Amino acid sequence: MQTEYFADVLIAGGGTSGVSAAIGASQAGANVLLVERSAYLGGEGTNAGVGALCAVYTCGENPVKCVAGVCESVLEEMQRLSPASTETIISAAGNKNINFKPEYMKVALDNLMDRNNAKYFLHTNIIDVKRTGNVIESVTCIDDESRFTVHAKTFVDATGDANLAHMAGAKTLWGDERGQVMTATLPFRLCGVDITKDMSPSAVERAVKAGKDAGIPNLTRERGFILKISGSQEVIVLLPSVIPEGLNAEELTRMEKFTRSQALYYVDAFKRFMPGMENAELTMIGPSIGFRETRRLAGKYMLTAEDVLNRRKSPEGIARGGWKPEIHSSLNEAATYLDVPGASYYDIPLGCIQSVDTENLYGSGRMICADSQAMAASRVMGTCFATGHAAGVAAALQGETGHTDSESIRRELIRQGALI
Ligand SMILES: Cc1cc2nc3c(=O)[nH]c(=O)nc-3n(C[C@H](O)[C@H](O)[C@H](O)COP(=O)(O)OP(=O)(O)OC[C@H]3O[C@@H](n4cnc5c(N)ncnc54)[C@H](O)[C@@H]3O)c2cc1C
Repeated sequence: MQTEYFADVLIAGGGTSGVSAAIGASQAGANVLLVERSAYLGGEGTNAGVGALCAVYTCGENPVKCVAGVCESVLEEMQRLSPASTETIISAAGNKNINFKPEYMKVALDNLMDRNNAKYFLHTNIIDVKRTGNVIESVTCIDDESRFTVHAKTFVDATGDANLAHMAGAKTLWGDERGQVMTATLPFRLCGVDITKDMSPSAVERAVKAGKDAGIPNLTRERGFILKISGSQEVIVLLPSVIPEGLNAEELTRMEKFTRSQALYYVDAFKRFMPGMENAELTMIGPSIGFRETRRLAGKYMLTAEDVLNRRKSPEGIARGGWKPEIHSSLNEAATYLDVPGASYYDIPLGCIQSVDTENLYGSGRMICADSQAMAASRVMGTCFATGHAAGVAAALQGETGHTDSESIRRELIRQGALI
């Protein structure tokens, strides 16, 4: 007979938003189970080579802290593990970010989940959902031995790609008005780099153009970021890119192969044409391609570019977003930014994390309900921590009382140290 588990809140996905949801729900008194298909927690933060945590502070001049709660506990735990695991910096673009080392984040997330009695299964994929009317009853999971069922009162989709919502038959969204999503990028790391040299987007452009002139193929993007890891001779390069057209096995394989092959051509170009990289060596690709935008939840409220640009506040606000729209729409160009005033944040209303048609389903992180330009701001990790925290608390309160409202969610989030 198939094994069965029972939880108050089931969280699908253990990225920054899923972990935040699990800890938030557990601190609100719920019995939680998080299911993650990778071997470790952190999602794109640990799986896709991303090295900077954005939107803990508002972007631009006079930065103000806008995310605390679970995110702050994670940063404190990383500091406890190693003072060198995080570093608060002002980026080349003038934003107050936290550069971090993903390997420490993996351990910190394990520690915090355990400390908060938040149970989780790794190496476990959610493959099916049982739905009755407008309510999810249970999910089917698969590990390397068998299938099992998890029954829960409420569900948080923290899969980044709205995979749970999709399997549940809940309404989802894809892309902008043309149905196009932002580029996905496969970062890679180089060691043996002289990081005192200029590696700005224009220096990248010079090296890539020289590589193209020398006949090196497959260099799709000429401008892009190189993130220097201070105190080391290591950099993260964010260039090999592709525009996702779906999430099926064929398309996922095409995207991984295409961007992975690009990485080696960029290494060749940089070793030959980027001052400071003559002796560089490739240490890691990915491990996995990073998706900026794929499927999103259709929610009760859609966050709009206007909300983000006007730094709109809401009495229903359950999280604060400090970033500005950072739009990666072209394979050849660097990101474009829509400007916002410094020291300012916008509120994310409760409706953005509530499914429009599935009563006990919440979404969190990069897949919350937002239009394309708004999601280009709300997808960064600081904000993912914040919306995850809110989704976990909301799911816990709904599971306990059968209903929920923004006032009680806000009260509990404040009790747990969130900034709202
Ligand atoms: C190239 C790139 C650069 C970026 N740079 C930055 C940056 O500098 N700063 C910043 O703050 N943000 C950056 N971001 C954005 C940020 O990293 C992500 O938006 C954020 O980490 C998403 O968090 P999440 O929890 O919503 O989803 P994810 O991190 O994607 O986590 C989702 C998790 O769900 C799991 N999952 C999915 N389906 C299933 C299933 N069926 N069963 C079980 N588990 C499942 C996945 O394995 C994954 O671990 C960048 C993104 C990319 C792609």
